[in-house]
Amino acid sequence: MSSGWKTRLYDLSPHWLQNALISAEVESRHRWLDSPEFRSLCDEVLSSEELPPDEVQALQDERLGAMVRHAYEAVPYYREVMDERGLKPRDVQSVSDLPKLPVLTKDIARSRERDLIAQGADLRKAEYQGTSGTTGTPFHLWVDRRSLWLDYALIRRHRIWAGVHFDRPLASFGGKIVVPIGRRKPPFWRVVRPRGDYIEIPPMIVYSAFHLAEDVIDLYLDHMRQQGIDQIKGYPSNLLILARHILKRNTTFPVRTVLTGSEPLYDHMRAAIESAFECRVCDWYGNTEKTAYGCQCDRYGQYHLGGHLNVMEFGTVEGSEGGSQIIGTSLTNFCQPMIRHATGDIALRVFEPCPCGRSLPLMTQVQEKVEDILLLRDGRMISPSVLTHPFKPLHGIEASQIVQEDLDTIRVLLATGPAYTEDQEQRLLAAFRERLGADVRVVIEHVSDLVAEPGRKFRWVVSKVSPLSLPEEVSCRRNTQG
Ligand SMILES: [Zn+2]
Repeated sequence: MSSGWKTRLYDLSPHWLQNALISAEVESRHRWLDSPEFRSLCDEVLSSEELPPDEVQALQDERLGAMVRHAYEAVPYYREVMDERGLKPRDVQSVSDLPKLPVLTKDIARSRERDLIAQGADLRKAEYQGTSGTTGTPFHLWVDRRSLWLDYALIRRHRIWAGVHFDRPLASFGGKIVVPIGRRKPPFWRVVRPRGDYIEIPPMIVYSAFHLAEDVIDLYLDHMRQQGIDQIKGYPSNLLILARHILKRNTTFPVRTVLTGSEPLYDHMRAAIESAFECRVCDWYGNTEKTAYGCQCDRYGQYHLGGHLNVMEFGTVEGSEGGSQIIGTSLTNFCQPMIRHATGDIALRVFEPCPCGRSLPLMTQVQEKVEDILLLRDGRMISPSVLTHPFKPLHGIEASQIVQEDLDTIRVLLATGPAYTEDQEQRLLAAFRERLGADVRVVIEHVSDLVAEPGRKFRWVVSKVSPLSLPEEVSCRRNTQG
């Protein structure tokens, strides 16, 4: 639910009315699923699996040429960097010309946010989206309709590959607040059932990821059994909490389909989830900037790329740690072009064709940062990804870290810039209270910088008490401000 009075109305409603409100919201946000444009995009996405590589390349080059021309003509940042290099649009007409343009790092993107918006873009037809990845450093961009639709068409294909039945309920364990945190009585789930045959969203039972205590997980599993759930989607860390609970009881919960996405899926997570649900996990990778996609092959495990729908390069980025980074270019988002966007995510291009027969290129599983899962005094376990949500709407946060000191206390360390205000701080505190409850003490501390100690990886969420935290110790050196 969106913020303000709508959220309050939702919170005060009984659960049956919340089901109706959430279903109506999903329905109204997805009316475009019935449009001929979306249908043709879905057809294009599905048929792209069969395109011969030279055709993919020709289409990519044509679309890239159009994007670069547009960026030069309408986007101040790209006009500036191309002029500095003496480049004209005719110099960047194919994917092989792309390295002539600089990589757009996250720091540059954040500091030049306004200069990346295309002049004359009709922003009424775009959505302003916030992203914080798993780093808690927000970035905002305008995403136009075609890019939003393409994203959904790709997610739809992921579900088709994974064998989702669109007429059967899908259990969902994501990051949205669907049940107010103060509510102590079940049900801690809401049923999303948009009306209309055209809506290609399966009926969804959305289980609250903010109530994941042992006794509540038992309620969830009972309810899922009653509902005949055989398809599940969620953040890997949420499904890991469920899987560990199931395995601890020396049992399993067999299903047909498990879909994951939105955060890294590590081998230990995959192994636990696959044993608990007796099912292969089908993972999805994408980003809010719409520059990079990867859909795990349902048969052979590597990740298929978007083909002619975007451009993905793999290489090291100056000033960044780690190995071969994904550098993505959107070929659809004309209102805020992101050309050669350094995603910060690590993966390798795989050059062998996939034995599944699809011609789409391949990459390995994406490596992102490993974070801790929090454990609260009332037994709830909180995934690190759901903690990125409070940061997404905010401005002026340059770096952040969440440290759980004990079962009741969370320290939020922030390095901020001029755009950060007292109002932003109150919003951040309120968003944490909304997710963790009023009993958890959240303390914000301002620091000048947040860096990893030499030889150690920076971890965004660190729990000093959770048995679900990682073996490596707290790895952050703090420079206190003032
Ligand atoms: Zn394949």
